[in-house]
Amino acid sequence: MPPVDALPVLIAGGGIGGLATALGLAQKGIRSILLEKAAALGEIGAGIQLGPNAFHAFDYLGVGEAARGMAVYIDQLRLMDALSAEQITHVDLGDAFRARFKNPYGVVHRGDLHGVLLKACQNHHLIELRVSSEVVGYDQDGASVTARLGSGNDVTGSLLIGADGLWSNIRKSVAADGPPRVSGHTTYRSVIPTEAMPEDLRWNAATLWAGPKCHIVHYPLSGWKVFNLVVTYHNDAPEPVAGKPVSNEEVLQGFQHIHERAQNIIRHGKNWRLWVLCDRDPVERWTDGRVTLLGDAAHPMLQYFAQGACMALEDAVCLSHMLDAYPEDHTVALERYRAQRFARTARVQLLSRAIGEHIYHPSGEHARLRNAVMAAKTSEDFYNDLAWLYGGTGLAG
Ligand SMILES: Cc1cc2nc3c(=O)[nH]c(=O)nc-3n(C[C@H](O)[C@H](O)[C@H](O)COP(=O)(O)OP(=O)(O)OC[C@H]3O[C@@H](n4cnc5c(N)ncnc54)[C@H](O)[C@@H]3O)c2cc1C
Repeated sequence: MPPVDALPVLIAGGGIGGLATALGLAQKGIRSILLEKAAALGEIGAGIQLGPNAFHAFDYLGVGEAARGMAVYIDQLRLMDALSAEQITHVDLGDAFRARFKNPYGVVHRGDLHGVLLKACQNHHLIELRVSSEVVGYDQDGASVTARLGSGNDVTGSLLIGADGLWSNIRKSVAADGPPRVSGHTTYRSVIPTEAMPEDLRWNAATLWAGPKCHIVHYPLSGWKVFNLVVTYHNDAPEPVAGKPVSNEEVLQGFQHIHERAQNIIRHGKNWRLWVLCDRDPVERWTDGRVTLLGDAAHPMLQYFAQGACMALEDAVCLSHMLDAYPEDHTVALERYRAQRFARTARVQLLSRAIGEHIYHPSGEHARLRNAVMAAKTSEDFYNDLAWLYGGTGLAG
């Protein structure tokens, strides 16, 4: 076998997962070539919530300070009843939360976060970024793997990491489990200037209004310049859709049955775009010899735990750690990575669905039960419930 570092590691995909992986490898002195399908590296203009586990990953990847600098630190996760417009409960994210999980809870603009990761990659001599490079398949032998590009060119490396998202080409060969599952949930996103947000709702919180078959999420972003609005309607949409522009009237159609105060948030949105959400059942087959999957390519999930990107960041931490720990045989490292990440990510995938059903979208008695159960919990109870998730790091469990 040739020395393992004679060839670079190939990474398909330049989203949060792919960039984080390149940084993690560079921290361990491993060279990589990142191959991105799009003509430019970037992210959609929307927000993202980051649990304490994401901040641990930023430190590990060497971007802790820069990532911390662009987050808004919200005080609460707030749960509202979208029918009564009453608060059901909230989770305090102040000192007790930070002391418990050793890191904060933050919200960031995706573009800002992606920009921090991208800049760190561009500045690292061990990372090469190539755009307009769609990986359509791969071939491997005992010593190397060759990524086949849509352009007809080939790139050879020691390993191939499929960080190519929900519709991963790499997964087609590794897991061969068909297309993603269409959830039937439609999500609409809008980012509005803070002045356009109803004044009495400009809370320093990630707020969730839970209603029958629908919910609304909002939080401030980018130094409070804007508010992120994400509203979801379980309308049994049959086909996947990504980023289609829609009018306010169309968005409002799924929210006629909720309290006027909650509906009003939607009226303040602008330039709404819609996504029909997809996920997958967990499968254990992420690795094929010198090839593995990471982030949404490995474990796409509904966003209800706000953890898809956090899991991708943890994956990058774990993979880098394993490649460093098993320098003699990187195929063993990939297998250890898969074994360590599978149960944790599968748990988040499945619980994300369950949260949708039992907390975000129930109606009638089911909703009254939710309100009673959630209202009875203290912040400390929520910390205990979430310790397995927010206390994780990607390095264990
Ligand atoms: C509405 C919504 C809200 C969310 N909110 C949160 C949240 O609050 N917190 C959180 O942690 N997560 C959240 N998520 C999940 C999070 O956005 C994803 O889990 C995360 O972005 C996945 O990153 P990734 O790098 O694995 O994949 P992607 O972001 O999909 O990146 C894949 C990259 O690969 C490229 N690519 C695709 N195919 C190829 C190919 N064949 N060859 C080369 N390049 C390719 C793509 O162009 C893209 O750049 C949310 C998701 C949604 C839909």
